[in-house]
Amino acid sequence: MNQNEMEPAALTWIKMECAQMRSRQGVPVETIAVELDTSVEQVQQWLGTLQHTGEKLTELYRRQLFNKRCAKCGNLIPEGTTYSDTGADSYHSECWRKICYGS
Ligand SMILES: [Zn+2]
Repeated sequence: MNQNEMEPAALTWIKMECAQMRSRQGVPVETIAVELDTSVEQVQQWLGTLQHTGEKLTELYRRQLFNKRCAKCGNLIPEGTTYSDTGADSYHSECWRKICYGS
């Protein structure tokens, strides 16, 4: 495989993965920089970026956990939307109205 044909972004991603892996193994940032033939600042940036990505994923996962699903239409009830909660089930306000008064 010709390395020159590799997407620069993909190559950067591989180096980021390597940097994170070596960091977890306790390898100093300076050593990682030498191994990957890059600067210490670059490695620190990669590690920082990866950490940030992880936080974002956790935040997404947390949101998904807290998202309620409407028991009538089955769609998610987005945060900030008014809804009715019967204790066991949650409904969009509109769906709840349809159940109570018919459509
Ligand atoms: Zn609904």
